[in-house]
This record gives sequence, C-alpha cells and structure tokens, in this order.
Amino acid sequence: MGENINVPELFGSLVFNDKEMKERLPEDIYASLKKTLSEGGEVDKNVANAVASALKDWAISKGATHYTHWFQPMTGITAEKHDSFISAMPDGTAIMDFNGKALIKGESDASSFPSGGLRATFEARGYTSWDPTSSPFIKDNCLCIPTVFRSFSGEVLDMKTPLLRSIELINKEALRILKLFGINDVTRVIPTVGPEQEYFLVDRNMAELRRDLMLTGRTLFGAKPPKGQELADHYFGSLRPRVRDFMQELNEELWKLGVYAKTEHNEAAPAQHELAPIYVAANIAADHNQLTMEKMKIIAENHGLMCLLHEKPFEGVNGSGKHNNWSLETDTGKNLLRPGHDPASNKLFLLMLVAVISAVHKHQDLLRIAVASASNDNRLGGNEAQPAIISMFIGNDLEEILEQMAGIATAHIGEVSRKLESGVKSLPDINRDTTDRNRTSPFAFTGNKFEFRMLGSSLSVAETNVIINTIVADELRSFAETIEAADDKQTAIDNVIVSKYREHAAVIFNGNNYSPSWSEEASRRGLLNLPTTPDALPYLTSGDNVALFARNRIYSGTELMSRLEILYDKYAKEILIEANTMLEMAGRQILPSVMEYLNMLMGTLKSRFDVGVGLRLKEPAEQLMINKIDPLAKETVADIDDLRETVDGCCALATAKEKAEYCRDKVIPAMKKLRKASDSLEEIIGSAYWPIPTYADLLYGV
Ligand code: ADP
Ligand code: MG
Repeated sequence: MGENINVPELFGSLVFNDKEMKERLPEDIYASLKKTLSEGGEVDKNVANAVASALKDWAISKGATHYTHWFQPMTGITAEKHDSFISAMPDGTAIMDFNGKALIKGESDASSFPSGGLRATFEARGYTSWDPTSSPFIKDNCLCIPTVFRSFSGEVLDMKTPLLRSIELINKEALRILKLFGINDVTRVIPTVGPEQEYFLVDRNMAELRRDLMLTGRTLFGAKPPKGQELADHYFGSLRPRVRDFMQELNEELWKLGVYAKTEHNEAAPAQHELAPIYVAANIAADHNQLTMEKMKIIAENHGLMCLLHEKPFEGVNGSGKHNNWSLETDTGKNLLRPGHDPASNKLFLLMLVAVISAVHKHQDLLRIAVASASNDNRLGGNEAQPAIISMFIGNDLEEILEQMAGIATAHIGEVSRKLESGVKSLPDINRDTTDRNRTSPFAFTGNKFEFRMLGSSLSVAETNVIINTIVADELRSFAETIEAADDKQTAIDNVIVSKYREHAAVIFNGNNYSPSWSEEASRRGLLNLPTTPDALPYLTSGDNVALFARNRIYSGTELMSRLEILYDKYAKEILIEANTMLEMAGRQILPSVMEYLNMLMGTLKSRFDVGVGLRLKEPAEQLMINKIDPLAKETVADIDDLRETVDGCCALATAKEKAEYCRDKVIPAMKKLRKASDSLEEIIGSAYWPIPTYADLLYGV
C-alpha cells in the first residue's frame, strides 16, 4: 500500500462511469441514454437491457458475483440486499444473468424501514428504481446500483427522491433567471456540494471495552481528562503513523469509488480529523458522503481503530460537524455565486446572493430541522458549534455593496486594503478574498459558495440540500415572476435586489456567533432560537411549510407528516437507548467496581486496627476516602433507580411527539444526574479498579 500508486489509473476503477459506458455501450444506445439523462424521462427498455448487459460484463470482469439496488431509506444511512447474478439452467448448470428489468426496478419488503405510518404492513411492498444520474459501482464483490425507494402507493420512502426533485426544481428556476439576464447558452444549472467530514479515531480494543461507544457511538460517562484541547496542539498537527496509514487506505478506497478525496488533516480536538472531497453535483455528493462514512468505519477496523462519526463523542471536547459547501454551477462551467472582479456591477451574482439571503431568513425553521437529531443536539449550542440560531455571514465588502444599493449608510465599514502585505521582500503580497473567514457563522459566504456548518457529522447531507435547493428555488421563482412582469428589466432587477435585501438583512450577522450577547441580539431581530430537536420539529408541518413543499412538488402533506413522525420517533429511541446503556454500565460495571474499591479500603482499614495502628490514628486515610466515596455511591444507586423509573414512564405515552418531549424534559436530565455522580467517582477511584477506559486513554491512545 502506498508505494508508487498510479492515482489517475486507480481513480474510478470500481465505477461504471461515463468513460466506461462510452467504451462498452453501442454508440446509439449510449447516445440515447445520454439524451434521457440530460432531458429527463424514462429509460427505454432496449437501452436498459443493453446497459444491464454491459454493466454485468464489466462487474464480472471486476470480480463481482452479486448486484444490489443501493438505496437511502429514512434511517439516514444506506441499505442493500445482495442478489447473485446466477440463473438456473434446466441441465443443472448456472449462467450469469442480469437484464434491464432487474436494473430498472427492484421490489423489496419495506416493512422494516421507517415510513412514519405511510404504509400499513399488509401493503409492505416497496420499490427501488434505478437513478441513472449516479454511476453504479462495485463494493465488496457486489455491483451497487444507486436507486430511489418508494412505497407501493408511490409515496417517497427515501432521502434521494426529494433530493432529485429539488435538483430539478432549482435547475428550472435558475434557468429562468439566466434567461432574464440574456444568458441563453446554459441548458442546466446544477447545485454543487462539497461536504467536509469530521470524525474521531480511537483505539479499537479500548473502545470495545465501552458499551456506550459500541451501542450509541458516544461516551455516556467520563470525567474530564487532565489535558483537553486547550493547547490547540492537535489542529493541523502532524499525523500519527496509524492515522496516516488509515487515511492512505481510505483515500485509495475512495478514489477507486470515484470519490475525489482531497484534503485531510487533524482537527481541533485530540483524536479528531477531517476529510474534504472536491465538490460535485449534489446528488453524487450525497451518495459519496454515504460511501465515505461507511468506508471510514470499515477501514478503521483494519488499523485497530474505531471511527466515531457521532456529533459529540466526548463531553467537554469539540464535537464533529459536516460543513455543507453549496453553490450553483451551469453546464457551461460558470459558478453563479462567484462575485467576480467587480461584484457591485455583477447583478446576476447579487440577485443570487439576495435569493439565498431571503431564503435563509424566511426558512430558518427548515434549515434548523434539516440538522435536527438527538446526537446533533449535543453539539449545537455548545461552545465550539454554532448556536441553534440561523444567521448568515456575507462579509463586510458584500454587505457594503448591498447597503449602498439599498441606500443604507455604511459608516461602520471602512476602506480595507485588498492586499495582505507580507512585510518580507522575498514573499509576495497576497490578494484578499472579498470575504474574510468567520468560523462562527452557521451559514457563511466563503468567496464563491455558501458553507452551512450546522450539519452533524453522522447526518446524511441529502435533507440539508433538499431544503437549501427548495427554499432558494422558491425565491428565484418569485424573483423571476416579478422581473418577467416588468417592462424595464434592469430596474426591476435592481428593485428586487434592494427590496429583498432590506426585507431580509436581519439574518445577516458578521459578528461572533458564540458570544453570549448574540442570542439576545438575535431575539431582538426576531430570529428563531430552537435549541432542541423537539423545539424545532413542530415547524415542519406548519401551514407555510406544507404549502412551500406542495407548491414546489417536493413533499406532499402526507409525506411531510410521515417525516415528522420518523424524526420524533428516532429522537426518542436514540435517547432511550442511551439511557438504557447508562443503566447497564452504571449498575453492572461502575457500581460493582466502586464496591470492590470500598471493600479494599475497608480491608486495609481493618488491618490497621488488627495491628493496632488504627487506634492511634484519629482519622485513618481509608476512613476519609470511604467518607468521600460512600455518599457518591449512594447517590449513584438512587440516580439509577430514578433513571430507570423515568425510562419506564416513557412507555405509557401515546405519540412519538410526546415521547420525544418526555425524553428531552425528563430522561436527559436524569441521565445527566447519573453521569455527574459517576464522573465524580471516576476521579477518586483507583485506576486499576475503574472498569472502563477513561477519556485520557481514548483521546491519547492512538
Ligand atoms: P475551507 O472551507 O477550509 O476554506 P475550501 O474552501 O478549499 O476549504 O473548500 C471546502 C469545501 O468546499 C471543499 O469540499 C470544496 O470542494 C468545496 N467547494 C469549493 N467550491 C465549491 C463550490 N463551488 N460548490 C460547492 N462546494 C465547493
Ligand atoms: Mg470549511
């Protein structure tokens, strides 16, 4: 591994990409498929048969024996069920067979996937169908065909269908805007996404000793280690050998799968790392991010590591996010969010910018919901992550341009030099970007794209991009309608920019989002602050949102209700699993160890008296220790009972919403209380007695 690999040759070697298709398909078939792909519509039966046959030959030549319809149910991860290519022959032999029908459509029992009440068990059938916009690939001897997943009655059961719908939608509305600017050579506008993925790597043997890491992906107990991230010595630090080997293998595996793994580095927290790919079309990015997360977990094992994708594996230590970099690109290679040399006169750019500003301001609730999960709640609002308030950063220069257009005084913004002077003759001065960096902003304009930073590390990027595409497209449509209706297009464009900016500028905040005064300021501005998932979820089915998704044909009212149900249900279940894991660990591991330690102390105390030393000491050290430990042990016993009772109380509740709220209000506080007592014990119990690896063991064990 690693010696002289030919990366361009390796790259995409497990993908049935455009190049492979062109080589393996008859010319007319290839042309017909390309035409369907660019214009939309159903793939012709003959074409499907020809593609299937070429696909099978290619897959077999790469060692595949099976195929699967690879899909993304609403669990947030991927699903696959393998079928071999074999087909039985009358003479008892077998041939390898795969046809257009098997490529295009699959049937699978949907009853064990979340549907939020969309489907009764008696009509449990679900259908997967081929998504020809994402290339098939080979994973572990299995040909994976990216597909969408629907119920028998046609309702959406996956994350991909709405994403594809939203991509079509924004294409349509952006093209309409381009026409108004006299740009007619563009035939497609594609939302592009580059998700930066953060993760932790810990020693696998140690992690396996912890039930909490195994079952929930995060530590539910653990006292603060003597050293955290205060020295900032991990960020961009040199890589440990085991981590470097892991990254190397990960890169190679991802490259084979056509994932443009590009940037890797150590992150802020000890044991934390990041991988960023080069951006691609949004639906491919969503597929690739799923593959990346899956490969991270598997490859970690090869190196004796465990990869933690949880948003907050360690309390008091930075959590992991996923930064969703998003822009719009034309098929002529133009980035619609590139300000250019003279942003003030780039009206197309300013219109796009204002569309995003008003979309984000109007739909803060949906962006918050897109990143809402029990695990991400541990991170949002913490010190290192954005607060649960959506605001935007666009940088002083752009703000100044928009304010000037809107006739708002901009006294606070001075002329800033465009050059960063190095002060060293031999070093060049560097031109500044039009935006500086604001790492605290949840939704930051970073030069030629927006970076949404609230996404959790374990979450699929699909939902986030469904929301961004939909809300921006909805704005673009209303802009287009206004401008189309006007006689003087130039003035109409200026008016839209100015009026929409004025209306929605309240969402722009270029300051420090982590400062305590921001939440007060945000509430004065009327911005939403939704700290927990159950706080955010009710907004999903508000009248406005039902209308938004219906008018844009992304989700029907029923589909929205089902998603809401799934989100509540998942939230409550995740917390209950955590609570039950804590009960097991506290009751069966921690308390017994504490008792053993107490027993040891009492033994030495007794032996002191046996030899007559005890009588001379007024307060033997053992006694002092016992005095400290005993009340904490009692507290732990009481907290265990309390948590168990609280967990049991959840069963009586009828709806998923009630359960979720109960978990937030009752279960989480009871969990915190139990943790507090146990963490205090960890600090005073002999390390040989403590039953599980500590934070220091895990964070510095690789
Ligand atoms: P940083 O966020 O550290 O400044 P970069 O700006 O280099 O890093 O890029 C971060 C991520 O943004 C990468 O995944 C990159 O591919 C992605 N990105 C860059 N340009 C675009 C774009 N036009 N659309 C979507 N993503 C983009
Ligand atoms: Mg970034």
